[in-house]
Amino acid sequence: MRSAWISAKLGIRERLSPSCGSNMLSCWLSRLCRGFSTPTGRITHPSRDSLSRTLVLSSQGRIPEFSSFVARTNTCGELRSSHLGQEVTLCGWIQYRRQNIFLVLRDFHGLVQVVIPQEESAAAVRKILCEAPVESVVQVSGTVISRPPGQENPKMPTGEIEIKVKTAELLNSCKKLPFEVKDFVKKTEALRLQYRYLDLRSFQMQYNLRLRSQMVMKMREYLCNLHGFVDIETPTLFKRTPGGAKEFVIPSREPGKFYCLPQSPQQFKQLLMVGGLDRYFQVARCYRDEGSRPDRQPEFTQIDIEMSFVDQTGIQRLIEGLLQYSWPNDKDPLVVPFPSLTFAEALASYGTDKPDTRFGMKIIDISDVFRNTEVGFLQDALSKPQGTIKAICISEGTKYLKRKDLESIRKFAADHFNQEVLPVFPKASRNWNSPVAQSILEEQGSELIRLMEIREDDVVLLTAGEHKKACSVLGKLRLECADLLEARGLVLRDPALFSFLWVVDFPLFLPKEENPGELESAHHPFTAPHPSDIQLLYTEPEKVRSLHYDLVLNGSEIGGGSIRIHDAELQRYILATLLKEDVKLLSHLLQALDFGAPPHGGIALGLDRLICLVTGAPSIRDVIAFPKSFRGHDLMSNAPDSLPPEELKPYHIQVSWPADSEAEKSSLNQPYCPES
Ligand code: ASP
Repeated sequence: MRSAWISAKLGIRERLSPSCGSNMLSCWLSRLCRGFSTPTGRITHPSRDSLSRTLVLSSQGRIPEFSSFVARTNTCGELRSSHLGQEVTLCGWIQYRRQNIFLVLRDFHGLVQVVIPQEESAAAVRKILCEAPVESVVQVSGTVISRPPGQENPKMPTGEIEIKVKTAELLNSCKKLPFEVKDFVKKTEALRLQYRYLDLRSFQMQYNLRLRSQMVMKMREYLCNLHGFVDIETPTLFKRTPGGAKEFVIPSREPGKFYCLPQSPQQFKQLLMVGGLDRYFQVARCYRDEGSRPDRQPEFTQIDIEMSFVDQTGIQRLIEGLLQYSWPNDKDPLVVPFPSLTFAEALASYGTDKPDTRFGMKIIDISDVFRNTEVGFLQDALSKPQGTIKAICISEGTKYLKRKDLESIRKFAADHFNQEVLPVFPKASRNWNSPVAQSILEEQGSELIRLMEIREDDVVLLTAGEHKKACSVLGKLRLECADLLEARGLVLRDPALFSFLWVVDFPLFLPKEENPGELESAHHPFTAPHPSDIQLLYTEPEKVRSLHYDLVLNGSEIGGGSIRIHDAELQRYILATLLKEDVKLLSHLLQALDFGAPPHGGIALGLDRLICLVTGAPSIRDVIAFPKSFRGHDLMSNAPDSLPPEELKPYHIQVSWPADSEAEKSSLNQPYCPES
């Protein structure tokens, strides 16, 4: 930032206040430019020339022209010393104005300083530029000049130059805003969503959406141009699919008949394989009526893929290549192949099927250490047929965790898992009064230290019970402890690290949550059983593994897929006999499988989640232009909205209002009041 703004020519120039956002902008701009760059280019402050070069879309070999077909000659963010003397026309928003001498103009590309002319002859231009409120849209024409010596702003990519304005036009004036369009101004998410079009002006949203667009473009290139995939759109008006997520229902004009929005294009993509398309891909919108969570939305986007004549390894290599190719250049390149764990290994070591492998603290089975224990609840657990004792070691736990942290960890395990968890301190010099410390024999202590590689200051969390339950609780506590340790300043999960992992060999079925006596598909009912377990389908189906694979990134599931069943008989048996589904609903698919369906498989990547992790955004809503609120509402337009009864008539629908909904009924014609 310039230290002093004294101009011999214009008189007063002053320090830019931090509120100008130039720091944030330069950071954003260089991230964006790096994001745009080709695999060979890494730049921070590009000149127009180098910026243009970095904007090459590699396989097309073309440079995007940002100012074609429009009223400007250049973008605000691209001007550099190499443009000195050029006559330019710029269009943008007034970011701020200082002392009626400078104005900073912003467009999607960055900020540029405009010098407001002070001469009498330029009174009309000065009036426009001095009177237009902040965030008004203006067009200015003038000359690119150097800033006076010593007044360059190295933190601003355009900081060496400014625009000496000759003409200006107010394209649209801005009324009083509900919030300032500056990234550092805090606003609630509800307000941001209500005025999403203003929120989108922020540097962060611009960066997220542009990075998303660029990654999707690279994915298209990789799939279609390099590997012969065909981009095919599938319908969004469809019918119910048995099993899986809850679907949104769409009324039709036929009495009692409804469409459903597809939870994914699963059936269509398989039918495309039967249709001989061989390699399908789509940036597909999917719908699940499940409410929002930080990483879920009722409508979301998948990179949806299906291939004929492929096996699990083929799909895995394809996806690794796809991610490597589309990975932003400002991040460390991805190393492939990604590591892989079986579902059973993931559960045993991390207590979950989506392990965060950026840090250790793995679950260890210590049952053998305590075979002869005197500790009651451990003895109890081991006397049961499936009983185990498990533990995790929190490195330097005694240094970073307080006694009340350990208490809240124990309470969490008791409240959420009905599971007792004990902290032990095998090597700590401090006396933590562990309730079991006295009952652990010396040789048990030494064996524990050896097995778990315990060091001074480590805390061990120990639990006992059935394998899956003990692993699940410790898996959850592993993440809770990581959060706690990081809140205390220990860096466990490097924010620059992207830890991909394949999880394979899932069970084909899981017991239904609401009725554990029945089975449901772990992935979806079209997933093929593992060839080595086929016979178990007819005897012990719950033991059958599947050809289902998930892709996990930093502890989030970002993709999942499977090799499909292409034998109609087997598909019918699984649907009707094992899953107790109505096969009539899928008769079209079953018939298609009978008409020469090729072996096939596929996967879908959750695009929103992937981009959220790549950009480090706090929620997937930050990488979606117009997301729904937590309760599934569009806070900007107030969707879903009521319809008057006469508009429902053609659909043969009548609202049956719940008893306490008088207020809602009368709000039919009321003005909109957003969720807070
Ligand atoms: N359609 C599946 C899903 O949405 C992905 C797949 O099996 O390809 O999870």
